[in-house]
Amino acid sequence: MTARPDDAAAAAPTLAGFTTLRVGGPIGTFVDAASAEEIMDVVREADAAGTEVLVLGGGSNILASDDGFDGIVVRDARREIAIENSEGCGGAQFRAPAGAVWDDVVVRAVAEGFSGFEALSGIPGSTGATPVQNVGAYGQEVSGVLSHVRVWDRATNRPRTLALADLRLGYRTSTLKRSYTEEADGGGRTWGPTGRYVVLDVHFQTDATTMSAPVRYAELARTLGVEIGARVESAEVRESVLDLRRGKGMVLDDADHDTWSAGSFFTNPVLPPAQAAGLPDDAPRFDAPAPDGSGGTWVKSSAAWLIAHAGFGPGYRMPGPAAISTKHSLALTNRGGASAADLVSLARTVRDGVEATYGVVLVPEPVLLGVEI
Ligand SMILES: Cc1cc2nc3c(=O)[nH]c(=O)nc-3n(C[C@H](O)[C@H](O)[C@H](O)COP(=O)(O)OP(=O)(O)OC[C@H]3O[C@@H](n4cnc5c(N)ncnc54)[C@H](O)[C@@H]3O)c2cc1C
Repeated sequence: MTARPDDAAAAAPTLAGFTTLRVGGPIGTFVDAASAEEIMDVVREADAAGTEVLVLGGGSNILASDDGFDGIVVRDARREIAIENSEGCGGAQFRAPAGAVWDDVVVRAVAEGFSGFEALSGIPGSTGATPVQNVGAYGQEVSGVLSHVRVWDRATNRPRTLALADLRLGYRTSTLKRSYTEEADGGGRTWGPTGRYVVLDVHFQTDATTMSAPVRYAELARTLGVEIGARVESAEVRESVLDLRRGKGMVLDDADHDTWSAGSFFTNPVLPPAQAAGLPDDAPRFDAPAPDGSGGTWVKSSAAWLIAHAGFGPGYRMPGPAAISTKHSLALTNRGGASAADLVSLARTVRDGVEATYGVVLVPEPVLLGVEI
């Protein structure tokens, strides 16, 4: 987990101590919950009292205000992964509590010979957060291995099981994430900074084989020396992914300020074909499902490309205090003394510059806690 124990133990914990961007002011109340029951109790009581709740994982997808958060921050202290079935024609089934470190789940899956996790190695944070934005990297998404999740439903004050279909997982989105902004998913209201559903346990279903899922990502295939669609030993895929990620500052490392980030700060824009036609010829283009639910095909471009070509390449605004990573134009980083306000200012400059150059409004990926871009 990314939180630093010295901060956790401090009398007045701050969000800077619990987030990978390392900004954010004081926390009202902090609870490290030892059981699912405790999490449900804390959330139910806070909701009844009208106290704001933040369910915190590794803090790797949050940009928190310098003013802090006056509500209750609750973190799941459970870590134990439980294998339910590891062989047979039904494949493998196992579960992890929301508090399990995501990379521990990947390491365990690869070691057990469970396929489909290997390219998701190195993504920081907790298992409970992975369905929230359907984490993905190098051609895999958690949607490929999820079976269902146990949640606490804050709208009905009941525990529930959400099947894969209920989660409506898409590119960096889900029913869980949509409940932050859409009343239909929020049970008649919107939620935040944690959504309507608090994830308690995540259940996985996948193939029991030491071979990876087919390699779908061109850069990864090149690194492995295989064709797209090939299957390789999962352990080998995992190592290659970690090497690629390290080269881009996408594996947490206390000593490397390029990793003091929230990963990709903007999602890749998915554009109607007519708008995508206006991009320069050399802008990346991939087919993607239309996000408007029409069933059509739109065009996904690359936020990193647009940012770099709009004049905000790696190292922009170095030496900081907030600057674009020296390794990747999509990561906004804290060079040591940045405030949330510094990061917000940088994010606005980048977003506005890309809009002025290409007419594309980039959307931030991290959860914004008490700040607006
Ligand atoms: C260096 C770096 C690289 C990254 N690379 C990737 C990548 O390749 N792909 C990718 O998809 N993401 C990536 N990310 C983003 C981030 O790691 C993921 O979004 C991750 O899943 C966030 O997990 P977390 O536990 O840190 O969530 P947090 O930041 O703690 O929380 C994020 C949101 O999820 C909610 N949440 C957390 N736990 C729960 C729960 N149990 N129930 C309900 N809601 C919950 C929080 O309330 C909050 O709204 C990267 C981040 C960093 C810093």
